[in-house]
Amino acid sequence: MNILIVEDEVQLADTLSEILKRNKYNVDAVFDGDDGLEYARTGIYDCILLDIMLPVRSGIEIVSILRREKNSTPIMLLTAKSEVEDKIQGLDCGADDYLTKPFSTGELLARIRALTRRKGEVEVDDIHFEELRLNRQTYMLIQDNNSIKLSLKEYQIMEMLMSNPGQILPKERFIEKIWGYESDVEYNNIEVYISFLRKKLASICSPVQIRTARGIGYFLEVKS
Ligand code: CA
Repeated sequence: MNILIVEDEVQLADTLSEILKRNKYNVDAVFDGDDGLEYARTGIYDCILLDIMLPVRSGIEIVSILRREKNSTPIMLLTAKSEVEDKIQGLDCGADDYLTKPFSTGELLARIRALTRRKGEVEVDDIHFEELRLNRQTYMLIQDNNSIKLSLKEYQIMEMLMSNPGQILPKERFIEKIWGYESDVEYNNIEVYISFLRKKLASICSPVQIRTARGIGYFLEVKS
């Protein structure tokens, strides 16, 4: 699970990174509002910890822009006690939660778990679709006694498909989530990764297939 920290107090950002890494999260930390917005826009994060008072661009501004751009990544504001008004404004703009500094590690981790659960993802190592499993830590795709390792992009695509069983996911969803909202990735780029994934599914003799809904996107189905 990927977490973005946007916090200009470098020492706090470092401490948070350490805590989260120890708890098996992948962490990126940036220290001003512009970098924060740029990283957040990639859409690869499962949760963003966002300070309000930041150089260049405030946390409130970042939340507003992301929500206007239909980026729905869960956002937790990190606020000082004196920033009550900002906190309310931030929640009104579309932040999901806030944490007042200083906070305990236990509370931080519990709130992150709650925020990321809200997206429908449970904190387990494996995602399942029928008998097919995908390991979140190792990126291994497993069918019975066969397994194969996925690249990061393949993993991200497969995770989206397996987390939304029975749904056709539009190509734009993959591109927004994996390459970022303003990305100019061509649609045939995703097709290349889908073809890699189909080969890998076949190589582990999985009955699960990635089907194309022509003109729309992709969905998973079990070969009958
Ligand atoms: Ca600050």
